[in-house]
Amino acid sequence: MKHPIRLILLSTATLLAVALGAAIFLLHTYQSPPVDPEWAVAPSKTIPDDAVTVRYTGTATLVFSDGETTWMTDGWFSRPGPLQALFGKVEPDLDAITKGLQRNEVHDLAAVFPLHSHYDHAMDAPEVAKRTGALLLGSESTANIGRGWGLPEEQIRVVTNREPIALGKFTITPIELRHFQFPNPEMAARALGDPDIDAPLKPPVGAFDYKVGKAYALHVAHPKGTWLILGSAGFVEGALQGYDADVVFLGVGALGSQTDAYRESYWKETVERTDPSRVIPIHWDSLTGPIEGPFTGMVRAAALLSKGPDKLLPFLEAKEAANPNITFITLPRYAPVVLF
Ligand SMILES: [Zn+2]
Repeated sequence: MKHPIRLILLSTATLLAVALGAAIFLLHTYQSPPVDPEWAVAPSKTIPDDAVTVRYTGTATLVFSDGETTWMTDGWFSRPGPLQALFGKVEPDLDAITKGLQRNEVHDLAAVFPLHSHYDHAMDAPEVAKRTGALLLGSESTANIGRGWGLPEEQIRVVTNREPIALGKFTITPIELRHFQFPNPEMAARALGDPDIDAPLKPPVGAFDYKVGKAYALHVAHPKGTWLILGSAGFVEGALQGYDADVVFLGVGALGSQTDAYRESYWKETVERTDPSRVIPIHWDSLTGPIEGPFTGMVRAAALLSKGPDKLLPFLEAKEAANPNITFITLPRYAPVVLF
């Protein structure tokens, strides 16, 4: 007969092995991104002098340029791992920011506009502004992220809901919407409860100290065309009425975890309200994947936050089938694509 202490040690070791195995599975199992590979467009080989181009880093970081003026959303390049984001502290990764700005060939930047103040949108923006001389645009919460990073006040501008901002030939109108509504109540409370950052925020801090602030859709008008950027899959009934757009950059992060009714309402209040001919899904990639190479990462771990992206691709494919007048596109990484 075995000694009871040996048995206890044995079962503890088994438990540890099982826990370790589960952790490795959750953190390192890769899944395909929830977009159709057929939507991928190649980088534009020739770029006319008067073209408007877009470059995509991943999540909701987009760089727009018309050759005269360049500006970007979010400017997020750091990719803290899932354990760090959920249980540790986060701060801008200076090397990742260097790499990200280089890969996007950003030199002069007129503005960086975080679409809301969560870490995966706003954390790096003050450093991007510092390095490029750009204005940091956004809510009072975003301004406090800038102040905590030591960005001079003259580079910070708090925007007003529905008040257009002129940047060269671009006219950007921020429209306040709701952030994506997490179905998990614990996640909703952590990410959306007590929404404002009311004092300068100095990292390293917990990822959820980057509170949401205001969530904006950006309507952009340029002599060449119009577009709408949704960084988060939230909506307000009727809010986008009258903001027609040729292209919608459709934030779909965690949308797979919502109900069918929520997904339908989101589509109706964004795409149907603005009547685009092109839809470009964004924020479908892993928050913890590297910023170079293909769009894969610790997708399963990231999906745990939102209970999985499994319903997203069938939803988008059904919308594509039902709307033959709309072309679905996904962007390559970093390389410029002619938008207009
Ligand atoms: Zn968010």
